[in-house]
Amino acid sequence: MAADEPIFVIQKHNARSLHYDFRLEVDGVLKSWAVPKGPSTNPRDRRLAVAVEDHPLDYADFEGGIPDGEYGAGAVLVWDRGTYRNLRVEDDEPASMVEALRDGHVAVWLEGKKLRGGYALIRTGKDDDNRWLLIKMKDEEADARRNPVSTQPESVLTGRTLEEIAQQ
Ligand code: MN
Repeated sequence: MAADEPIFVIQKHNARSLHYDFRLEVDGVLKSWAVPKGPSTNPRDRRLAVAVEDHPLDYADFEGGIPDGEYGAGAVLVWDRGTYRNLRVEDDEPASMVEALRDGHVAVWLEGKKLRGGYALIRTGKDDDNRWLLIKMKDEEADARRNPVSTQPESVLTGRTLEEIAQQ
């Protein structure tokens, strides 16, 4: 894992409802989407991903409880973490992530512990629409039989489950 590659993190978060916060480092912040069902390794699945506010980069390692009454209260665990590469190319050059976000068409290669391979994030509506779809791209890392959201629920940092974190 090269030190200069941008990071991605997926945080499992049981706020009012359970979701997975999918975050990509872009220009010093974490661009973020809330994915209610979590990511899939099956290219046939289209997972709703709601764009939410940017988070600071150092939030990527956060795991623990969030007190009641604070925004996003509940417990958070680091479900996956690693680096990514931008797959979008324009005029034979890597396209900028900022442009890809503006266009509503992001394509990244993830190098995580649970997730690897290409993932696309496609905005479904107009510019001001916060609804996107998170889709596994068809590549050698696609696997319709895996279901890591249910078979690998634990933190990649500490091995704890969300229930164990919430009880502390
Ligand atoms: Mn959240």
